[in-house]
Amino acid sequence: MANKEDAEPVTGRPRSLRVNSLFSEDELIEDYYDAPPANGGSGWSDHVPSPRPPAPASSGSSPGTLGDRMDGTAAAPLSPTIKAGWLDKNPPQGSYIYQKRWVKLDADHLRYFDTEKDAYSKRFIPVSSISRIASVGDQKFEVVTNNRNFVFRAESDADRNEWIRTLQQIAEERKSKALERTSTSLTTNGAADPADKSGFLELRGFKHKLFVAVAGDKVFLYKNAEDYRLGIGITYIEMNVGNVKEVDRRGFDLTTPYRIFSFSADSDQEKEEWVEAMQQSIAEALSNSEVAERIWAVESNRFCADCGSPKPDWASINLCVVICKRCAGEHRGLGPGITKVRSLKMDRKVWTEELIELFHQIGNAVANQFWAANVPPSEAITPASGSQERRRFLIAKYREGKYRRYHPLFGNQEELDRALCAAVTTSDLAETQALLFCGAAVTCATGDPQCPTPLALAEKSGQRLQMEFLLHNKTSETPRLEVGGSEEKPYSVPLPSVTHNGFLYKTPSMAKPVGERKGQEEFSRRWCTLQDGVLSYYENDRNAVPNGEIKVEEIVCLVNNPPHAHGIESTFEVYIESERLYLFGLESPDSAREWLKSIAKSFVHPRAEELLALDFERIGRLHYKGGLNLERAKEGWFALAGSTLHVCFEDSERQEPLQLRKLQELSIQGDNEVLVLVERRRTLYIQGERKLDFLGWVHAIQKAAGGSGHTLAEQQLTESDVPLLVDRCIDYITQCGLTSEGIYRKSGQNSKTTSLLEMLRRDARSVRLKEGEHQVDDVANTLKRFFRDLGDGLFTGRWGQDWLRATALEDEEAKIGEYRRLLGTLPTVNRATLKALINHLFRVQRFSGENQMNTHNLAIVFGPTLFQTDGKDYKAGRVVEDLISHYVKIFNVNDQEMKKQQDEIMAIMKMREAASSGTQQAGDFICTVYLEEKKTEAEQHVKIPATMTAEELTFEILDRRKIVTKEKDYWSCFEVNEREEAERPLHYSEKVLPILHCLGTESYLVVKKQMSMENMLIYLASRVGDCKHGMMKFREERNLLGLGLSTGFHDRYFILNHTCLRLYKEVRSHKPEKEWPVRNLKVYLGIKKKLRPPTCWGFTVFYENEKHEKQQWYLCCDTQADLREWFATFLHVQNGGALWPSETSKVRASRSPQDSRLGNISLIPLRGNESEMRNSVAAFATDPLTLLRNV
Ligand SMILES: [Zn+2]
Repeated sequence: MANKEDAEPVTGRPRSLRVNSLFSEDELIEDYYDAPPANGGSGWSDHVPSPRPPAPASSGSSPGTLGDRMDGTAAAPLSPTIKAGWLDKNPPQGSYIYQKRWVKLDADHLRYFDTEKDAYSKRFIPVSSISRIASVGDQKFEVVTNNRNFVFRAESDADRNEWIRTLQQIAEERKSKALERTSTSLTTNGAADPADKSGFLELRGFKHKLFVAVAGDKVFLYKNAEDYRLGIGITYIEMNVGNVKEVDRRGFDLTTPYRIFSFSADSDQEKEEWVEAMQQSIAEALSNSEVAERIWAVESNRFCADCGSPKPDWASINLCVVICKRCAGEHRGLGPGITKVRSLKMDRKVWTEELIELFHQIGNAVANQFWAANVPPSEAITPASGSQERRRFLIAKYREGKYRRYHPLFGNQEELDRALCAAVTTSDLAETQALLFCGAAVTCATGDPQCPTPLALAEKSGQRLQMEFLLHNKTSETPRLEVGGSEEKPYSVPLPSVTHNGFLYKTPSMAKPVGERKGQEEFSRRWCTLQDGVLSYYENDRNAVPNGEIKVEEIVCLVNNPPHAHGIESTFEVYIESERLYLFGLESPDSAREWLKSIAKSFVHPRAEELLALDFERIGRLHYKGGLNLERAKEGWFALAGSTLHVCFEDSERQEPLQLRKLQELSIQGDNEVLVLVERRRTLYIQGERKLDFLGWVHAIQKAAGGSGHTLAEQQLTESDVPLLVDRCIDYITQCGLTSEGIYRKSGQNSKTTSLLEMLRRDARSVRLKEGEHQVDDVANTLKRFFRDLGDGLFTGRWGQDWLRATALEDEEAKIGEYRRLLGTLPTVNRATLKALINHLFRVQRFSGENQMNTHNLAIVFGPTLFQTDGKDYKAGRVVEDLISHYVKIFNVNDQEMKKQQDEIMAIMKMREAASSGTQQAGDFICTVYLEEKKTEAEQHVKIPATMTAEELTFEILDRRKIVTKEKDYWSCFEVNEREEAERPLHYSEKVLPILHCLGTESYLVVKKQMSMENMLIYLASRVGDCKHGMMKFREERNLLGLGLSTGFHDRYFILNHTCLRLYKEVRSHKPEKEWPVRNLKVYLGIKKKLRPPTCWGFTVFYENEKHEKQQWYLCCDTQADLREWFATFLHVQNGGALWPSETSKVRASRSPQDSRLGNISLIPLRGNESEMRNSVAAFATDPLTLLRNV
């Protein structure tokens, strides 16, 4: 029906022609009934094709647009038609002829049109105004509104009944919805939404003025004001397709692709107002749906790419698929590395011309040809699918790429990359898509120095869409199936959408940490909004275009600075993935806190939301390794609050607090690459993938892990809540000062005490007190000084007097009871510290024979110190004296503890005896060694002199336990690594002390029989030649610092000769793949179960090269015999052939009974060559204890 002229653009159309195409005058005759159109039924039905109005940039870019509009559905894109069909409408007054009308029902309106092609109705009846639908005989039915009835006649009873049922259902739904809302005044009386502007306007073609209402994104036409009130109108115009132009003083045109409405207002002034109102309506309509409209112009984009829901208004901009809201929620859960979710309607800025075009070229059709090439019907989802089903499907589809159409080059990285470089220079986006998501690297090297990346190649070839596609997939991950059930992946919850806005002060973003204080003048005031996952800052609150923006998914860390850190009272820092930081400030601490909470909430993963409740100084995500599995770095969420680091590990349900002051170790490995935190139960490696935020974390954690003040609770603590400083001093005095005369009474050097105390206060963890370096009296004085200066004192200001008063109690039992009660009132740290100190003093007085410090003397010294008095009040000393005297009762010390203490004192006394002989060497170590297995009963404390060998240690332990060794009992000392579930028998000649020094917290020494020694010796004696070769299963574990994955066990061929171990890919290989010098290998028996070794006969091998770089790998043998032979060969090669001292049994048998003078000290068996033996015997004669040191 569109003639040639109609096809011309509206702008070029003569006004005279338009008159013909407008309403007929007859429309106005109609009162309760419509009049037939006078101009041969053309009425509204003319179509004026036009370029899409106010977005010139988009014209012509979507060839399908116009055709789609022609079907009339595009005029109401947001309310899909529920039912449509031809019906006869009751004749208007004065006529007997039924009029054939195209009747259309959507969720909001019942409308009728002259023809099915029309965009504009002759009448619309809001569903909300329908009160009843009734059958009235002769295939007719009646639609009853508040005060008007409309009668329609269907072609059959069935058709009529179908209409009635549908109408009733929709009307019911609308009513129940209306009831849910509280403000229903407008909807119930049937009127449209409150209008932005309403009033009478002349419309060309109409004799009388129409009542026109501009409301939201629509313009409604009513015959009169009464109809407007009732809500029953002629038609409405969707303004997303509108354009307004002033024509003359009072006239203006509203142009749509289907029709031009020429209005005329009463005055100049009125016209201005109408034009402005309509322009605003257009703006509103466009802001909502322009992008959606354009994307939907392609048929396949009108249904969710994943579940098929109609009108999907979200999209994944890297996958180029249009998706529904529910699928979008699940997409977000996959993370931005898989899919970047944006709204078609809200994220206006992201939708560039290129991106929209890309959605026309790829979009759901092309994307699904690739992603959904092989979806089994049983796994597909529908609009009705639940969120779990959806999630499972989307993970399989996009993260695992399960239904992909595999590119023929799949698996061949080089070829894939080469093909990508070729594809990006063509317009074949489907090929690029297939290559990229089958593993081609988006940043692969092109080999072209002018265009080093595929992106540069695409640019050079002028392929804008290829560039756009590559850009959005710059950080995309290649889909891959992961072992271990991806459903349990914790990323399945979408981030909450947080909205916040207001003025903030802001400095330019930085690539370095904020070094110095920023003055107020360095901040600029900016209007900031946090919305839809973007933090934007604008010049002011009137600007529409932001100066810049930060996507919350790129935020990695948020830092709350202490007040007045900069010229503005409250400041905070936002760190993003690409190593930049933004400094924001506010005058009001309350508003700053609100901003912090909002930003944190917007980027912290829901599984870590527990952290949001903390008063954090710093919150963010970091990669870490820890626990049993050190292969793969995981992402954790961390929050630092006070001296506690709260961590949400990847695989745990709840956050776990790490008491930083109680860490055993805190160090940095590599070049500021890994922060190592050792707690009693675990070791955590935090990795610095990005420098900027990582360094911030390192400094903050170091600071929080240090002592912060002068009260007890502010110190670094041991696991049992004793300040590390106190523990270090007590330990040192115990090791070196128990027998020192006048200990704690003699004063040390003031300057040394001062500096030592300062050092310990700053970071006791890193201070090692060493004999020779530190004087006993300096350390003793440091401890006293610490207590004397302690904020609030050990007994606390509140309860101190009560302790002093307790001394007046005459009844001993009552007094002890009172002390115990008071002990119970002390804070945990004070109580633990008091117990540790009194325990120590209890020991010191045990040595009063040597040190002259009995309980009374100690009390005189410590009373005033602990109570921080001048010493005139004798009661202070009395408390300390009582506490030492009744130590066991007051502190409830049990027998086992006493026994242990007794043993320790014995060991120390022995040591001191040795020392008093004048040959004590510095650096001796007391260490715990177990007999046969690790349990308390099997514990032995042994002093390890620098020269002690594994064999000597073994005999020492056996002697203590009075174990008589038999022939072929190969007692050895083993180093057991609990973490690796592996152990290594020490060679008999190996020195123990160096091993102790590198023993981690997860390792210990145990003395037990070496069961396979006999067989190893037989094997070595019987074999031919001194190398071994054969197949073993090999598994590499990358360096701890690396992020790589282990690859599992693979068969490899090995040759071990007297200098090195070589690995060959297979038996026939000529060149070894790897080669290690044997002397740098440490071979342990056993492989941790976690790695699922293929057999139970395996080794864990540590390799350290000259540069101290460490590697760790695993070898697995097929049989036990094979394992034994390999191990024997290793030992043989590493120890020059001697696995076992040949004369052992003989020497052992000759051991003499213990010398009574030495108490429990063992005698060292004599061995070695004759001259050594002679020397030893000579030494023994003069001083038997030298044997402990110089065999
Ligand atoms: Zn969907």
